[in-house]
Amino acid sequence: MQIITTKQELQRQVEACKQEGKTIGLVPTMGALHEGHASLVRRAVNENDICVVSVFVNPTQFNNKEDLALYPRDLERDAKLLSSIGAHYVFAPSPEEMYTAEEMNQTFTFDFGGLDKVMEGKMRPGHFNGVVQVVSRLFYLVQPDRAYFGEKDFQQLAIIRFMVERSTLAGTFGNLQIVGCPIVRESTGLALSSRNERLSEAEKQTALAISHTLMESLEWAKTGSVREVEKRVTDTINAVEGLEVEYYEIVDKTTLQPTDTFHNAIGCVTVYCGKVRLIDNIQYDA
Ligand code: AMP
Repeated sequence: MQIITTKQELQRQVEACKQEGKTIGLVPTMGALHEGHASLVRRAVNENDICVVSVFVNPTQFNNKEDLALYPRDLERDAKLLSSIGAHYVFAPSPEEMYTAEEMNQTFTFDFGGLDKVMEGKMRPGHFNGVVQVVSRLFYLVQPDRAYFGEKDFQQLAIIRFMVERSTLAGTFGNLQIVGCPIVRESTGLALSSRNERLSEAEKQTALAISHTLMESLEWAKTGSVREVEKRVTDTINAVEGLEVEYYEIVDKTTLQPTDTFHNAIGCVTVYCGKVRLIDNIQYDA
């Protein structure tokens, strides 16, 4: 496995692979890797000749400076894990390598067909513009055949699919296929997240109420209306000391707009556990 820090070297290696007719799978990450990331990488290794993993804490998708500063970073540990899974290249550029000073500060706007106007998009203005800015750049640099994203960030996955399939950029990434991968959880139910590293043991226990409530809501959905279930989930999590729901919305999985039925529906939640912002979701007709 090779660690690459420059765009030029990355493109040199990609070109060589392409000339040999090899297929490339890309897994974009921000590092501090866990089993959730590992599941994406394993799949990319299995389904492609070459697997490229990017490890880059992308400053342009953070609208909170403290969150960016506190985001965990440990490239050495990440590289060990990736090598043990069989990744071929790790692309770990500096922010200066990825962006010029102008690009770093530029307000990049992009039409996501309304997918970005709800939930995370509403709460974190500019977040998805930053995500698309970095992901589209990675797509151009790596020219992958497949790119892997977790359903944990369901809205992000929907927006990336939109970018590749329906936006003005559609068609510019070749035959790129976006592969969505299921959420990986601890045995307790807690969705794995790099941000969990910032939780104390006590907070980790407290945070269990998030996934437990979402799971329980599958039962509630058998008899209650969508709005009733939304309220019950929100109230149940808020009743736990140390947890505060930012939003819980049951939306259509395709449009991400509020829905009145559980058909094709997903419930997406964001909860503050102390100072740490956690997200999770549950699919009602999976
Ligand atoms: P991040 O490093 O948080 O930007 O995540 C990189 C990729 O890993 C994204 O596509 C995430 O959706 C995915 N991911 C993060 N946590 C999990 C998880 N618990 N299960 C599945 N995929 C995940």
